[in-house]
Amino acid sequence: MEGGEKGHIVLFPFMAQGHIIPFLALASKITQKGYQITFINTPLNIKKLKKTNHPSIHFLEIPFDSTQHGLPQDAETNDSLPYNLALKLLEVSPSLEPNFKKILTQLVELKIGFFKKSQPICVISDLFFGWSAKVTHELGILHTIYCGAVGGFGLACYYSMWLNLPHRHTDKLEFILPDFQEAGKFHVTQLSPSLVIADGNDPYSVFQMKNLPLWKNSDGVLFNTIEEFEKNGLMYFRRKLCIPIWAIGPILFQENDNVRSSTSPRKEPGIQFDKCKEWLDSKEKSSVLYICFGSQNTISASQMMQLAKALDVVEVNFIWVIRPPLGFDVNADFKSEEWLPEGFIERNQESEQRGLIVLNWAPQVEILAHESIGGFLSNCGWNSVLESLINGVPLIGWPMAADQFFNAKFLVEEIGVCVEMARGTTFDVSYLDIIEKIELVMDSESEKGKRLRGKACEFKEMIKDATRDDDDYKGSSIRAMDEFFNLLMKER
Ligand code: UDP
Repeated sequence: MEGGEKGHIVLFPFMAQGHIIPFLALASKITQKGYQITFINTPLNIKKLKKTNHPSIHFLEIPFDSTQHGLPQDAETNDSLPYNLALKLLEVSPSLEPNFKKILTQLVELKIGFFKKSQPICVISDLFFGWSAKVTHELGILHTIYCGAVGGFGLACYYSMWLNLPHRHTDKLEFILPDFQEAGKFHVTQLSPSLVIADGNDPYSVFQMKNLPLWKNSDGVLFNTIEEFEKNGLMYFRRKLCIPIWAIGPILFQENDNVRSSTSPRKEPGIQFDKCKEWLDSKEKSSVLYICFGSQNTISASQMMQLAKALDVVEVNFIWVIRPPLGFDVNADFKSEEWLPEGFIERNQESEQRGLIVLNWAPQVEILAHESIGGFLSNCGWNSVLESLINGVPLIGWPMAADQFFNAKFLVEEIGVCVEMARGTTFDVSYLDIIEKIELVMDSESEKGKRLRGKACEFKEMIKDATRDDDDYKGSSIRAMDEFFNLLMKER
């Protein structure tokens, strides 16, 4: 066992790859500061996680029998579940409380766990586990929440939207958030389907209305973002929750991709990075558009056809992470003859080499860091946003779900590094419109493109500055992390 002399922290993410991975990234960061981690999750997830074999992280199972809650056997992450069952998993997650209490008590009494000499000093829980603050405090331990996969602005919109359901109080298509007016106007097309139908009595609303107010009971919230560009979103939470809000980001996996694949059943890369690099090396600086809709999303068959048609016409190099369209099994073979224009692959990938098509999953972090990348057509998932901005890459937004609509709004209106192309999977996109947006961002002569690139570079520098940790200068994210650790030291 290495390190850990500073104390022992319990991490407890929700059971979904999009939650577990950011918690693992945080765990890595915290262990570098000399803390030990007990990482709690349900049995199947823990079995997969144990493969990561990190010396200062102890993975601990919390019992959970999905069949007792009307879920299929082994339904322990929402990644492989259809929407209604994923929602069910969320709904039944508070049933973990008694076992969580039992485990935490045993950790405090030093009866279980790997770190037998060290009682936990803090629990860092998922934002879906608001209930865990009370249990943690009963045992005299600090409790914080980690928002690893969502930004401050996006989460503020999400929080306010679920608690106020503003679209339910107007007949208009546009509305504002009563307690977050500085976010400006929203359009109903910026709401995920679950929010559109929410009326306060549906299961999702019931869960959110119970869970979100519980955040106030926590001792603070850690955000995977940067203070300097998230003033509005972070201020919202400071105002609403009256507890410390620490912007400690960006916290991302840079190299440790084996952690990702070990936590996911279907994330075999469609290409190795050296092959990608060879292709990218042959392209001019900032000349390649990277297209990827995140870890789970795909577009509809007609949208895919329009996008391909646009790529055929527009004279831009591209890497496209492609998956079967909506309605087809994402793991099925990709039928290019059915879903793409005739000869698309031959024209773009094989003969002219203008495009590189990657099936299912690409080494995104490495691709975005390559200097040939000049733009990112993205679903605006928060990790993708951070990975893009770290490299000063402007975005073309095509949000698909949840906070992604709000992230796109933030990128376009608040920080000016993005143009929005479409919303969701039913949006009627035309290839002409796609061409226009791609040219706007990728054309080195376009004024708008220059502005976006300039802004993206500013944010790249801002992130660098926020994470500077020199003897004579500490960036805002480093200072926020130090403040959090100082609070822990007081508790010891
Ligand atoms: N990702 C990747 N390769 C892919 C697709 C996604 O490595 O082909 C990674 C990406 O780098 C990011 C994460 O998966 O870290 C996606 O998270 P994000 O928050 O951007 O989107 P979401 O999964 O919520 O759609």
